Amino acid sequence: MNRDISIVLVETSHAGNIGAAARAMKTMQFEDLRLVRPCKYKTAEALARASGADEILTESRVYDSLEDAIADRVRVFGTSARARSLDWAPKNLPDVAQSIVSEAQPTAIVFGRERSGLTNEELALCDGRLVIPANPSFSSLNLASAVQIVTYELQRQTGFALQTSAVDAVAGDAEPLATHDAVENMYTHLQQVAEHTGFLDPANPRLLMQRFRRLFSRASILQSEVQIVRGLLTAIEKSIR
Ligand code: SAH
Repeated sequence: MNRDISIVLVETSHAGNIGAAARAMKTMQFEDLRLVRPCKYKTAEALARASGADEILTESRVYDSLEDAIADRVRVFGTSARARSLDWAPKNLPDVAQSIVSEAQPTAIVFGRERSGLTNEELALCDGRLVIPANPSFSSLNLASAVQIVTYELQRQTGFALQTSAVDAVAGDAEPLATHDAVENMYTHLQQVAEHTGFLDPANPRLLMQRFRRLFSRASILQSEVQIVRGLLTAIEKSIR
Protein backbone atom coordinates (compact mmCIF):
# COMPACT_ATOMS: atom_id res chain seq x y z
CA MET A 1 0.00 0.00 0.00
CA ASN A 2 1.19 3.46 -0.84
CA ARG A 3 0.63 6.05 1.88
CA ASP A 4 2.97 8.65 0.41
CA ILE A 5 0.41 9.61 -2.18
CA SER A 6 -2.94 10.99 -0.99
CA ILE A 7 -6.02 11.34 -3.15
CA VAL A 8 -7.99 14.49 -2.35
CA LEU A 9 -11.55 14.97 -3.64
CA VAL A 10 -12.98 18.47 -3.40
CA GLU A 11 -16.72 18.97 -2.80
CA THR A 12 -17.80 15.75 -4.42
CA SER A 13 -21.57 15.79 -4.77
CA HIS A 14 -22.35 12.12 -5.57
CA ALA A 15 -21.66 9.57 -2.85
CA GLY A 16 -21.43 6.91 -5.56
CA ASN A 17 -18.42 8.66 -7.04
CA ILE A 18 -16.65 8.64 -3.67
CA GLY A 19 -17.32 4.90 -3.35
CA ALA A 20 -16.08 4.28 -6.88
CA ALA A 21 -12.97 6.40 -6.22
CA ALA A 22 -12.25 4.29 -3.11
CA ARG A 23 -12.51 1.15 -5.20
CA ALA A 24 -10.24 2.62 -7.88
CA MET A 25 -7.67 3.49 -5.22
CA LYS A 26 -7.69 0.08 -3.58
CA THR A 27 -7.21 -1.75 -6.88
CA MET A 28 -4.07 0.33 -7.40
CA GLN A 29 -2.85 -0.05 -3.80
CA PHE A 30 -3.56 3.46 -2.58
CA GLU A 31 -5.41 4.02 0.66
CA ASP A 32 -5.18 7.62 1.82
CA LEU A 33 -8.45 9.27 0.77
CA ARG A 34 -9.08 12.87 1.87
CA LEU A 35 -12.41 14.60 1.31
CA VAL A 36 -12.91 18.34 1.34
CA ARG A 37 -16.53 19.29 2.25
CA PRO A 38 -18.03 16.15 0.69
CA CYS A 39 -21.71 15.31 0.38
CA LYS A 40 -23.10 12.76 2.84
CA TYR A 41 -21.06 9.82 1.66
CA LYS A 42 -21.27 6.84 4.00
CA THR A 43 -24.35 5.70 2.13
CA ALA A 44 -25.54 2.39 0.75
CA GLU A 45 -24.75 3.59 -2.75
CA ALA A 46 -21.18 4.57 -1.85
CA LEU A 47 -20.61 1.21 -0.16
CA ALA A 48 -22.04 -0.61 -3.15
CA ARG A 49 -19.79 1.31 -5.53
CA ALA A 50 -16.77 0.78 -3.22
CA SER A 51 -17.42 -2.91 -3.75
CA GLY A 52 -15.20 -4.15 -0.91
CA ALA A 53 -12.96 -1.10 -0.54
CA ASP A 54 -15.04 -0.16 2.54
CA GLU A 55 -12.05 0.56 4.78
CA ILE A 56 -10.87 3.30 2.44
CA LEU A 57 -14.24 4.97 2.91
CA THR A 58 -14.37 4.44 6.67
CA GLU A 59 -10.79 5.61 7.16
CA SER A 60 -11.09 8.59 4.83
CA ARG A 61 -10.69 11.98 6.50
CA VAL A 62 -12.90 15.00 6.01
CA TYR A 63 -11.54 18.57 5.86
CA ASP A 64 -13.13 22.00 5.86
CA SER A 65 -10.69 23.39 3.34
CA LEU A 66 -8.28 22.24 0.67
CA GLU A 67 -5.47 24.02 2.56
CA ASP A 68 -6.07 21.77 5.57
CA ALA A 69 -6.27 18.64 3.45
CA ILE A 70 -2.88 19.24 1.84
CA ALA A 71 -1.08 20.86 4.80
CA ASP A 72 1.24 17.91 5.48
CA ARG A 73 2.06 17.24 1.83
CA VAL A 74 5.28 18.31 0.12
CA ARG A 75 4.04 18.19 -3.45
CA VAL A 76 0.49 18.96 -4.60
CA PHE A 77 -0.92 18.40 -8.06
CA GLY A 78 -4.33 19.63 -9.22
CA THR A 79 -6.11 17.74 -11.97
CA SER A 80 -8.19 19.29 -14.69
CA ALA A 81 -9.75 18.21 -17.93
CA ARG A 82 -8.52 21.32 -19.71
CA ALA A 83 -6.34 24.38 -19.47
CA ARG A 84 -8.38 27.39 -18.41
CA SER A 85 -6.08 30.31 -18.88
CA LEU A 86 -2.87 31.11 -20.64
CA ASP A 87 -0.68 31.13 -17.53
CA TRP A 88 -1.86 27.65 -16.76
CA ALA A 89 0.60 25.08 -18.05
CA PRO A 90 -0.75 21.62 -17.36
CA LYS A 91 1.51 18.63 -17.76
CA ASN A 92 0.49 15.29 -19.10
CA LEU A 93 -0.13 12.53 -16.60
CA PRO A 94 2.78 10.25 -17.62
CA ASP A 95 5.32 13.06 -17.09
CA VAL A 96 3.86 14.12 -13.76
CA ALA A 97 3.64 10.51 -12.58
CA GLN A 98 7.28 10.04 -13.42
CA SER A 99 8.36 13.04 -11.37
CA ILE A 100 6.14 11.99 -8.43
CA VAL A 101 7.59 8.51 -8.45
CA SER A 102 11.19 9.68 -8.75
CA GLU A 103 10.89 12.39 -6.11
CA ALA A 104 9.10 10.05 -3.65
CA GLN A 105 7.82 12.91 -1.47
CA PRO A 106 4.53 13.05 0.43
CA THR A 107 2.22 14.05 -2.41
CA ALA A 108 -1.43 14.98 -2.85
CA ILE A 109 -3.35 14.68 -6.07
CA VAL A 110 -6.42 16.86 -6.02
CA PHE A 111 -9.61 16.18 -7.98
CA GLY A 112 -12.42 18.67 -8.53
CA ARG A 113 -16.19 18.81 -8.45
CA GLU A 114 -18.20 16.71 -10.89
CA ARG A 115 -19.78 19.75 -12.50
CA SER A 116 -17.23 22.49 -12.26
CA GLY A 117 -13.86 20.96 -11.43
CA LEU A 118 -11.43 22.94 -9.27
CA THR A 119 -11.59 26.71 -8.92
CA ASN A 120 -8.69 28.87 -10.03
CA GLU A 121 -7.98 29.63 -6.36
CA GLU A 122 -7.77 25.92 -5.57
CA LEU A 123 -5.52 25.31 -8.57
CA ALA A 124 -3.31 28.15 -7.37
CA LEU A 125 -2.65 26.19 -4.16
CA CYS A 126 -1.25 23.33 -6.23
CA ASP A 127 2.34 23.44 -7.34
CA GLY A 128 1.68 21.37 -10.42
CA ARG A 129 -1.26 20.73 -12.65
CA LEU A 130 -1.97 17.61 -14.58
CA VAL A 131 -4.27 16.52 -17.35
CA ILE A 132 -5.11 13.05 -18.52
CA PRO A 133 -4.62 13.21 -22.28
CA ALA A 134 -8.04 12.70 -23.84
CA ASN A 135 -10.26 13.59 -26.77
CA PRO A 136 -9.73 17.37 -27.17
CA SER A 137 -13.43 17.90 -27.84
CA PHE A 138 -14.63 15.55 -25.06
CA SER A 139 -11.94 15.53 -22.40
CA SER A 140 -13.87 15.43 -19.15
CA LEU A 141 -13.79 12.02 -17.49
CA ASN A 142 -16.03 10.82 -14.71
CA LEU A 143 -14.38 11.70 -11.39
CA ALA A 144 -13.76 8.10 -10.29
CA SER A 145 -12.50 7.20 -13.77
CA ALA A 146 -9.98 10.03 -13.48
CA VAL A 147 -8.87 8.69 -10.08
CA GLN A 148 -8.53 5.22 -11.62
CA ILE A 149 -6.35 6.38 -14.47
CA VAL A 150 -4.10 8.58 -12.32
CA THR A 151 -3.58 5.85 -9.70
CA TYR A 152 -3.03 3.26 -12.42
CA GLU A 153 -0.31 5.36 -14.01
CA LEU A 154 1.37 5.92 -10.65
CA GLN A 155 1.14 2.24 -9.84
CA ARG A 156 2.51 1.32 -13.25
CA GLN A 157 5.49 3.60 -12.83
CA THR A 158 6.21 2.71 -9.19
CA GLY A 159 5.26 -0.91 -9.56
CA PHE A 160 7.71 -1.66 -12.31
CA ALA A 161 10.65 -2.28 -9.97
CA LEU A 162 8.38 -4.15 -7.56
CA GLN A 163 7.09 -6.42 -10.29
CA THR A 164 10.59 -7.14 -11.52
CA SER A 165 11.73 -8.09 -8.05
CA ALA A 166 8.61 -10.21 -7.59
CA VAL A 167 9.55 -12.12 -10.73
CA ASP A 168 13.10 -12.44 -9.43
CA ALA A 169 11.83 -13.69 -6.09
CA VAL A 170 9.89 -16.41 -7.87
CA ALA A 171 12.92 -17.30 -9.93
CA GLY A 172 14.86 -17.55 -6.67
CA ASP A 173 17.70 -15.18 -7.48
CA ALA A 174 17.87 -11.57 -8.56
CA GLU A 175 19.75 -11.30 -11.81
CA PRO A 176 22.28 -8.50 -12.07
CA LEU A 177 21.90 -5.91 -14.80
CA ALA A 178 24.73 -5.69 -17.31
CA THR A 179 27.37 -3.10 -16.52
CA HIS A 180 27.97 -0.19 -18.85
CA ASP A 181 31.26 -1.79 -19.82
CA ALA A 182 29.70 -5.14 -20.71
CA VAL A 183 27.11 -3.42 -22.88
CA GLU A 184 29.79 -1.35 -24.67
CA ASN A 185 31.77 -4.51 -25.39
CA MET A 186 28.62 -6.09 -26.76
CA TYR A 187 28.15 -3.14 -29.15
CA THR A 188 31.75 -3.46 -30.34
CA HIS A 189 31.25 -7.18 -30.92
CA LEU A 190 27.94 -6.55 -32.68
CA GLN A 191 29.56 -4.01 -34.97
CA GLN A 192 32.45 -6.37 -35.82
CA VAL A 193 30.09 -9.17 -36.78
CA ALA A 194 27.85 -6.79 -38.69
CA GLU A 195 30.88 -5.72 -40.72
CA HIS A 196 32.31 -9.24 -41.18
CA THR A 197 29.01 -10.54 -42.49
CA GLY A 198 28.56 -7.57 -44.83
CA PHE A 199 25.43 -6.49 -43.01
CA LEU A 200 27.07 -3.19 -42.16
CA ASP A 201 29.14 -1.29 -44.72
CA PRO A 202 31.82 0.61 -42.77
CA ALA A 203 31.96 3.15 -45.60
CA ASN A 204 28.25 3.79 -45.19
CA PRO A 205 27.28 2.77 -41.65
CA ARG A 206 24.14 4.94 -41.58
CA LEU A 207 22.52 4.84 -38.15
CA LEU A 208 22.72 1.12 -37.53
CA MET A 209 24.81 1.22 -34.35
CA GLN A 210 22.80 4.13 -32.93
CA ARG A 211 19.67 2.13 -33.56
CA PHE A 212 21.11 -0.89 -31.76
CA ARG A 213 22.01 1.37 -28.86
CA ARG A 214 18.52 2.78 -28.72
CA LEU A 215 17.03 -0.71 -28.82
CA PHE A 216 19.16 -2.11 -26.01
CA SER A 217 18.97 1.02 -23.88
CA ARG A 218 15.19 0.51 -23.70
CA ALA A 219 15.65 -2.99 -22.33
CA SER A 220 17.54 -2.76 -18.98
CA ILE A 221 19.58 -5.65 -20.31
CA LEU A 222 20.78 -8.30 -17.86
CA GLN A 223 24.33 -9.64 -17.66
CA SER A 224 23.11 -13.07 -18.74
CA GLU A 225 21.40 -11.52 -21.77
CA VAL A 226 24.62 -9.82 -22.86
CA GLN A 227 26.23 -13.25 -22.69
CA ILE A 228 23.51 -14.73 -24.90
CA VAL A 229 23.94 -12.03 -27.55
CA ARG A 230 27.71 -12.37 -27.46
CA GLY A 231 27.49 -16.17 -27.59
CA LEU A 232 25.42 -15.92 -30.76
CA LEU A 233 27.86 -13.41 -32.27
CA THR A 234 30.79 -15.74 -31.53
CA ALA A 235 28.93 -18.64 -33.16
CA ILE A 236 28.28 -16.53 -36.26
CA GLU A 237 31.96 -15.58 -36.44
CA LYS A 238 33.00 -19.24 -36.21
CA SER A 239 30.62 -20.31 -38.94
CA ILE A 240 31.87 -17.72 -41.42
CA ARG A 241 35.54 -18.26 -40.72
N1 SAH B 1 -16.48 20.32 -15.98
C1 SAH B 1 -15.35 20.04 -15.15
C2 SAH B 1 -15.03 18.59 -15.21
C3 SAH B 1 -15.08 17.99 -13.91
S1 SAH B 1 -14.79 16.28 -14.02
C4 SAH B 1 -14.13 20.80 -15.63
O1 SAH B 1 -14.14 21.20 -16.78
O2 SAH B 1 -13.17 20.94 -14.91
C5 SAH B 1 -14.39 15.99 -12.33
C6 SAH B 1 -12.93 15.92 -12.02
O3 SAH B 1 -12.36 14.77 -12.65
C7 SAH B 1 -12.09 17.09 -12.49
O4 SAH B 1 -12.15 18.17 -11.63
C8 SAH B 1 -10.71 16.47 -12.48
O5 SAH B 1 -10.27 16.39 -11.14
C9 SAH B 1 -11.02 15.05 -12.97
N2 SAH B 1 -10.85 14.93 -14.43
C10 SAH B 1 -11.80 14.68 -15.36
N3 SAH B 1 -11.27 14.60 -16.59
C11 SAH B 1 -9.96 14.81 -16.44
C12 SAH B 1 -8.84 14.85 -17.36
N4 SAH B 1 -8.97 14.66 -18.68
N5 SAH B 1 -7.62 15.09 -16.84
C13 SAH B 1 -7.44 15.27 -15.52
N6 SAH B 1 -8.44 15.25 -14.63
C14 SAH B 1 -9.67 15.02 -15.07
